[in-house]
Amino acid sequence: IRLRLSALRDLPAVTLDGAHVRLGANIGLLSDIPHVREYGADHIGLYRTEFPFLLRKSFPTEEEQVELYTRMLQKAEGRTVTIRTFDVGGDKFLSYLDYPKEDNPFLGWRSIRISLELEEEFRKQIRAILRASAHGPVHLLFPMISGVEEIRKVTALVDAEKQALDEKGIEYDRQIATGIMIEVPGAAAILSRLLKYVDFVSIGTNDLIQYLLAVDRNNKKVGNLYNALHPSVIVTIAEIVNVCRQHQKPVSICGESASKQECLLLYVGMAADRISMTPSSIPAAKQFIRAIRYEDARYALDAVLEMEDVESINDFLSHFIQKRF
Ligand code: PEP
Ligand code: MG
Repeated sequence: IRLRLSALRDLPAVTLDGAHVRLGANIGLLSDIPHVREYGADHIGLYRTEFPFLLRKSFPTEEEQVELYTRMLQKAEGRTVTIRTFDVGGDKFLSYLDYPKEDNPFLGWRSIRISLELEEEFRKQIRAILRASAHGPVHLLFPMISGVEEIRKVTALVDAEKQALDEKGIEYDRQIATGIMIEVPGAAAILSRLLKYVDFVSIGTNDLIQYLLAVDRNNKKVGNLYNALHPSVIVTIAEIVNVCRQHQKPVSICGESASKQECLLLYVGMAADRISMTPSSIPAAKQFIRAIRYEDARYALDAVLEMEDVESINDFLSHFIQKRF
């Protein structure tokens, strides 16, 4: 396995007929960085900054954050790092934050809703990420956006913080790309409106599946209903990718579904610009991509988009994969 890993590490994820897929790693801590190298990710598709926040007893200061993100960029050795602002609530609770008692935390005070309410902390983080962007390639990502109002507020905060840095003569990447996670079905439905405000999109399949199918991503009782191969999930993701392409905005598919061969085949068929996953899933994904043809993936996607139910899709894809690879 070691030999195979090291042989694969520096090879590109390119299909037999020449389609390039950029494979990224989803990480949460500095200590994950060795895996990025070991498993051959060409970028960090998702840095979940809530992980360092969760390990502390209070919100990290601006200086602490600048140092943390800068170290992450240094250790990433020139790879682009997509830094997502802290995404708490749902099932991730900060010990130093008072949460309301909620019947449905995943539908409640979560993610960008918390950030926008804790405006000072949110601004502090935006400022820290901007400052770190002077030290390496950063994409700035906002989670769980559900409407234009939210992205307008976020954009206003980013602009205000950029201006404040300009006034103080503090360096940051003026071209820094900003993007949103599409993980709320309502946001997918109005994607073209949202795209006016951003440079890129990251599809968060973990949450998108849960919200599209109304199935709690952590509830084992209904775990059999949580399925990335549900036709509504595939149709929605394919449509998001299409709309991004029409608007010439890069799109990344981000979430654990990409580590399943059946899903990966479809995502390759959609020609997503980037696909990111847990680092340890990358070598197998790369090997798979290097063994398939984009034209076949496209054909499989078109066939699946006509199908009615999970079972037909599953059967078709597993036979398709078995037959060819
Ligand atoms: C997602 O929702 O797919 C995602 C990548 O983010 P998280 O798993 O952190 O919610
Ligand atoms: Mg999410």
